[in-house]
Amino acid sequence: MPTRPSDSRLWIRNPLGAFTANALDASGGIVVSGGIIVEVLAAGQQPSAPCQETFDAGNHVLLPGLINTHHHFYQTLTRAWGPVANAPLFPWLQKLYPVWARLTPRDLELAATVALAELLLSGCTTAADHHYLFPSGLEDAIDIEVGAVRKLGMRATLTRGSMTLGEDDGGLPPQSTVQAADIILTDSERLIGEYHERGDGAVIQIALAPCSPFSVTQEIMSNSAAMAERLDVRLHTHLAETLDEEEFCREKFGLRTVEYLESVGWLSGRTWLGHGIHFSDAEIAALGAAGTAVAHCATSNMRLASGTARVIELEDAGVPVGLGVDGSASNDASNMILEARQALYLQRLRYGAQVPVERALGWATRGSAAALGRPDLGQLAPGMQADLALFRLDELRFSGSHDPLAALLLCGADRADRVMVAGQWRVVDGQIPGLDIAGLIAEHSAAARKLVGD
Ligand SMILES: [Zn+2]
Repeated sequence: MPTRPSDSRLWIRNPLGAFTANALDASGGIVVSGGIIVEVLAAGQQPSAPCQETFDAGNHVLLPGLINTHHHFYQTLTRAWGPVANAPLFPWLQKLYPVWARLTPRDLELAATVALAELLLSGCTTAADHHYLFPSGLEDAIDIEVGAVRKLGMRATLTRGSMTLGEDDGGLPPQSTVQAADIILTDSERLIGEYHERGDGAVIQIALAPCSPFSVTQEIMSNSAAMAERLDVRLHTHLAETLDEEEFCREKFGLRTVEYLESVGWLSGRTWLGHGIHFSDAEIAALGAAGTAVAHCATSNMRLASGTARVIELEDAGVPVGLGVDGSASNDASNMILEARQALYLQRLRYGAQVPVERALGWATRGSAAALGRPDLGQLAPGMQADLALFRLDELRFSGSHDPLAALLLCGADRADRVMVAGQWRVVDGQIPGLDIAGLIAEHSAAARKLVGD
């Protein structure tokens, strides 16, 4: 797509509805210049200087670009796989590990492109991925993901995952899928040096992500925390997802999950946790005091019947809460706007129907940005990155709806009409310019059938 000159000003004018994720009123729209939001206009307000371009958003609901905080892109190849369609986490994993161990570089490239395209079309502009499989031949997994992110023009926090505790040592994954600690740490440092961008507007960031208590040693957890501190990057892992995991921690380490987290130096503001479901009141308070964040994965938690995260209590205790679609073998979609709907409804089941629509949109934007340590993203405000999602409400499913923001979640919006990343349109009229979706589906589907041995 042609890129806009950096000094040109674009007025996205008078949206049908707008959610800023803060106290600002954007009823008059926003002005974008140089990849940044430079003005937020209240109802009736005009831009302070002439704009070379205007986009009339009278048919669009305007949101900050949605941010996904937990995913496993490679799992788009094992969506809705019959043998695990009706299984909880541990048996689900044990059936899938040997399949995933056959992943090739081309498989991952296709899988990441599918996941990112799906996210982008759902209004997502920044995605985190947790990749922890590095079988022989796939040592460049994160490098491959960087290529896919750049191709689609999105932002990403790519986490260098790891597994070190195989079946032989009492872990869950097969021995063939684990790596030695020195290989993991050397590769982690290489990736940070090669790709990690710092400061406002970063496109690619790298974080360190030993997989879960039942697949890694305490040593790699501690060493990763020390490296994250030394190189100033973030830490990510799965924690408190299921009661099986809680039991595993008690038996293997003699600790509850948060005690385990603290014992390896991870109870800090540098960490965001995938799931974070089974916490006591005291643990919620400790996480809040530390500023440790949680990626709430509502759909996955319902799909695997893992439990219901205590999101309102976590957030009220000071825990930044973002949303994650989680891997596509446990969702099985990569759709951020639908994920916000699921999170809203799951949390209403726990806390009541008064949980506002805006709070769920806040998790998907500002909360997710906080979880990823990105103060430059997730809000419509002057100085923030121009990452935006615009949804039309003229489809059948919205007909007869009244409040535009409520309609987005309550009527089940599933596709953005326009998405902007860093001031550039990456979705136009519900399509990703330059991406051959039909060709991608054909090749990705063939790879998926081959991977499971069909
Ligand atoms: Zn996960």
